[in-house]
Amino acid sequence: MKLLQEKILKEGRIEGSDILKVDSFLNHQMDIDLLNEMGKEFKRRFKDKKITKILTIEASGIGISCIAAQYFNVPVVFAKKSDSRNLDKEVFESKVTSFTKGKDYIIKVSKRYLREEDDILIIDDFLANGQAIFGLKDIVKQAGSNLVGVGIVIEKGFQNGGKILRDSGIQLESLAIIKSLENNQIIFEEKKGEENK
Ligand code: 5GP
Repeated sequence: MKLLQEKILKEGRIEGSDILKVDSFLNHQMDIDLLNEMGKEFKRRFKDKKITKILTIEASGIGISCIAAQYFNVPVVFAKKSDSRNLDKEVFESKVTSFTKGKDYIIKVSKRYLREEDDILIIDDFLANGQAIFGLKDIVKQAGSNLVGVGIVIEKGFQNGGKILRDSGIQLESLAIIKSLENNQIIFEEKKGEENK
């Protein structure tokens, strides 16, 4: 998605050789006009699919999921990372290893909000090694729901999450795919047919 690539080039900051910081428009401050365009683009890419719910993970997936949900007219369910007394006792849970924090945590979703009859689109901000998405996918499986696809804002193509998901036959739609962050330079992978959208 051209607009997103331009924003990443203008405002993205590289940390080390594998972390991209996009706090100015996605992970801290949020650019709602841009999120709106991204929401429309997710809808365009999944337009023929029956989707009854969007599933994401707190915190950074929530903003883009809520905006996208307005184009799908479906609720958003987000997996919780922290224990809360407010959370139902009956939960689906899965273990996730955080790429950015380097530690394990358990994600939880109340059994009330995922049903066998649900058709789920998973949305998240970043895809690196795929741990967060594998955890969400595991929860969808436990619920007996149907996983329709995965929508990602920024995929880091030099890490292996995207390949594993595509190889397993899942429809993975990433709005920007980064080929490399080396030498303090952001290089995109141009997927045929998508580059000018
Ligand atoms: P994965 O679970 O695919 O290994 O990593 C994805 C998760 O880690 C995302 O939900 C995101 O929060 C975080 N993450 C991974 N790489 C980056 C990155 O380069 N920049 C930012 N801002 N977050 C990242």
